[in-house]
Amino acid sequence: MTITTQFATVPHSSPASQERVAEVLAAPGFGLYFTDHMVTVKWSKGEGWHDAQVGPYAPFTLDPATSVLHYGQAIFEGLKAYRQPSGAIASFRPDANASRFRQSAERLAMPQLPEELFLESLRELIAVDKRWVPTRQGDALYLRPFMISTSTGLGVNSPAADYLYTVIASPAGSYFSGGIKPVSVWLSTEYVRAAPGGTGAAKCAGNYAASFVAQAQAVEKGCDQVVWLDAVERRWVEEMGGMNLFFVFGSGENARLVTPELTGSLLPGVTRKSLLQLAERLGHKVEERRISTEEWEKAAASGELTETFACGTAAVITPVGHVKHANGEFTIGDGQPGTLTMKLREELTGIQEGTRPDPDHWMIPL
Ligand code: PMP
Repeated sequence: MTITTQFATVPHSSPASQERVAEVLAAPGFGLYFTDHMVTVKWSKGEGWHDAQVGPYAPFTLDPATSVLHYGQAIFEGLKAYRQPSGAIASFRPDANASRFRQSAERLAMPQLPEELFLESLRELIAVDKRWVPTRQGDALYLRPFMISTSTGLGVNSPAADYLYTVIASPAGSYFSGGIKPVSVWLSTEYVRAAPGGTGAAKCAGNYAASFVAQAQAVEKGCDQVVWLDAVERRWVEEMGGMNLFFVFGSGENARLVTPELTGSLLPGVTRKSLLQLAERLGHKVEERRISTEEWEKAAASGELTETFACGTAAVITPVGHVKHANGEFTIGDGQPGTLTMKLREELTGIQEGTRPDPDHWMIPL
């Protein structure tokens, strides 16, 4: 198979004005505005990866019979590029996203993009769209690599023969511009996100399509977010919306962390993996194991469980303050952000913003 790592660059003929970029960066929100360019790389059976290009951000034209529109072979990633104090741009563990992208591709019977090509695609996009990387603390440029099947035809017996890999980028404001506010969560026993043997560990579009109805139900119940339970017993806690969960038992130096183990039906978060390492480095015991909703509620009531938080690329760390389920509700601690939650948040955002030591070299220049 040929791997074309030579990117052709086609500059945008009328890029956004400097004033427009400043206007967007003043209030970026999340996922609303896109930079001037995008990366595309094609894959075809027999040919492998080809036609790598950095070109103007533009709509796709797809035949109505394009496979992705019917059978949903679509995977994506999400990571951020941060402005460092030197003015340089670096991203947080992009190699981990490259590796997860390959694993998602494997589960969806799609071609696996070589990790070096994934990283190069990010570098190519940053090279032309640097001015869109925010400088304000807490803001970043969100990078969205994704891949879709592009073969035309409705045959469903085999995966598509053509794919399109794309990277777009969108300036992202701090999730918590108004201060860190704990979220309330709804334990979903009616809907499940992922089942054993399913696609829960893959970052595929369909997982998100199937989540909206449960998220809407959580909001109907007066909560901010949905918490997913296992598909079989509806008893074991898996994730919160698009974030992984952590539970803190005890307090102070003896505080220990528990996070649901990777059973195959939850997404292996890059933030989750990093916090396990970071907490251990700070001297805390960490455990990956199953945790039931009963244990969560009982330990919160007895005071043994002191904090709960969710983590992910978009919001980094979000405290969970209150939990509701079909038979009742409970509060975590005093419902306010926990001490360890905030300490880990500060440590991690410090590494990402380049203001704290980065002993494991998680930040990779782009
Ligand atoms: N779970 C789900 C379902 C997600 O979509 C995400 C976001 N990618 C996460 C967890 C957190 O993963 P990460 O830390 O890699 O952003």
